[in-house]
Amino acid sequence: MKIRILGNGGFYNEGLPYNAIAIDGHVLIETPPDILQSLNHSDMRPSQIDTVFISHIHGDHCFGFPFFFFNWLYAGEADSHYEKGSMLAIIGPAGLREHLLALLRLAIPPEHQYIRDFSERAKLVEVDEGDIIAVKGNIWFSFMRTKHSLPTLSLIAGATAGPPPSPKRALKEALFAYSSDTAMFEGIHTLLESGAKLILCDTNGEKESDVHMSPAQLIAAARVHGLAGNSGRLLLGTHMSRRIVSQENLRFAQDGEEFSVI
Ligand SMILES: [Zn+2]
Repeated sequence: MKIRILGNGGFYNEGLPYNAIAIDGHVLIETPPDILQSLNHSDMRPSQIDTVFISHIHGDHCFGFPFFFFNWLYAGEADSHYEKGSMLAIIGPAGLREHLLALLRLAIPPEHQYIRDFSERAKLVEVDEGDIIAVKGNIWFSFMRTKHSLPTLSLIAGATAGPPPSPKRALKEALFAYSSDTAMFEGIHTLLESGAKLILCDTNGEKESDVHMSPAQLIAAARVHGLAGNSGRLLLGTHMSRRIVSQENLRFAQDGEEFSVI
């Protein structure tokens, strides 16, 4: 599984590209306001995406959706997904479909064909903690609720040629975990204890808060789980407020970086 960092900035941020990730070149995690630019900087096109995961409906995670989906659907003229009749899978928490529809109606006149096309070409899969779903390309996704100011889901992902694992085995068999937005809570320890070879965690907090973890809180948790040094498993801070490469033993995700996990 190849994990590409498209952007690493949080809502509060001094100008970093907003947090977004690609898996294996065809799965997009988050659609922030600058998603078209971030895909372009990584030589990716919206049309190569077949699955989108949006962790929650704060604007830094979904305000780019109207522009992403417009270009996903119509770019390429005769070769476009519109002409080919393709469907885009969109995965996220309950209420995501209605929220995305509201964004589209703000972005373009409500009577525009685009609004009808969204209903016909987007397959919304609203999920919750403990669900396990198969994703194209022999990938599976599982989810965990976080501690944030809106209902928010962490992503736990793995690869299998067969059916997805049971909920019990999912954490053990995970290759990749993404905390999405969260304050420090016991679920972070669950992710750090998982089998995931790459773990990306929110570090948008400056200090202890109820909304985001701080780098210091994540460093302390990593120490508990032996993730601070060379453990063969990589923990990265992301969703940052300013560009940081490392702090003590914790590295931070940098846009354009790609990691292979097996
Ligand atoms: Zn948020």
